[in-house]
Amino acid sequence: MPKGYFVSKQKYIARERIKHLIDLAGKTFSKFPKRADHYIQLARKVAMKARIRIPSPLKKKFCKHCYRFLQPGITCRVRTKGGKVIYYCLHCKKYMRFPFLKEKKARKKKI
Ligand SMILES: [Zn+2]
Repeated sequence: MPKGYFVSKQKYIARERIKHLIDLAGKTFSKFPKRADHYIQLARKVAMKARIRIPSPLKKKFCKHCYRFLQPGITCRVRTKGGKVIYYCLHCKKYMRFPFLKEKKARKKKI
């Protein structure tokens, strides 16, 4: 456990559990899609109980509207448009947008 970075041990454990649960959801999705959705629900509950945010790379793994696991090409469609990555949930037919302006700016600076 790195010092100073995490507020408390409980929150650190919760964060690890969330990572593990979402990872498991990804592994079981191909065989048991419903089980994957259940893991997402558990991960959300852990986050709410510990009052922490779900890390942003993991937020892209499930729909923020219906909380179902998103597998690009199967349960969601991924496109880029106007500096944003757009996830379209095929279940509830809603969009999630993630801007990548930071990455764009960083690339401009390098060149
Ligand atoms: Zn959805």
